[in-house]
Amino acid sequence: MAILTSVKKLPQRTCIVCRGKNPKETMIRLASVEGEVKLDLEARLDGRGIYICSSKGCRLTELDAGKLSYSLKTTVTKDNTASITEQLRTSFKE
Ligand SMILES: [Zn+2]
Repeated sequence: MAILTSVKKLPQRTCIVCRGKNPKETMIRLASVEGEVKLDLEARLDGRGIYICSSKGCRLTELDAGKLSYSLKTTVTKDNTASITEQLRTSFKE
């Protein structure tokens, strides 16, 4: 078993809003669970996940149901999208 001690590469994820790459830990995960998108703040939910970076511009953006559906390869309803947008706005206070 190889143990990486020196150059440890942090896993990076692409923000679906700005397409910027950031370390996974700094990003907000959204997961599609049984057809419903949930805010996965603990990054513990199974299922396909997408990421939004923690910059204000991306967090507070109006998410698009079509974009979410495309990224998650599932149909995301407008209501679901609105609820996620709302949760993103209320979960992070600055
Ligand atoms: Zn971003």
